[in-house]
Amino acid sequence: MCLILKTQMPVETEFREIYCNNCKKVLGRYNIKFYNDDKIGEVLKTNHVEHVRNGHQVKIRRFLQKNQE
Ligand SMILES: [Zn+2]
Repeated sequence: MCLILKTQMPVETEFREIYCNNCKKVLGRYNIKFYNDDKIGEVLKTNHVEHVRNGHQVKIRRFLQKNQE
């Protein structure tokens, strides 16, 4: 019996999505490879702070993107 072991490649890339509930739009998507939660918090405070200041409900959610073959 011959088993071919394929290298396990992640089939999906995980992102963090910053979403504004009031504007009903995605403010940005960040690859978790490059942005950890601290960094996302920083981006939120620097790039998207107007939403927070305006009292908008900004959430960070998980976003999975299928890798292209
Ligand atoms: Zn907003």
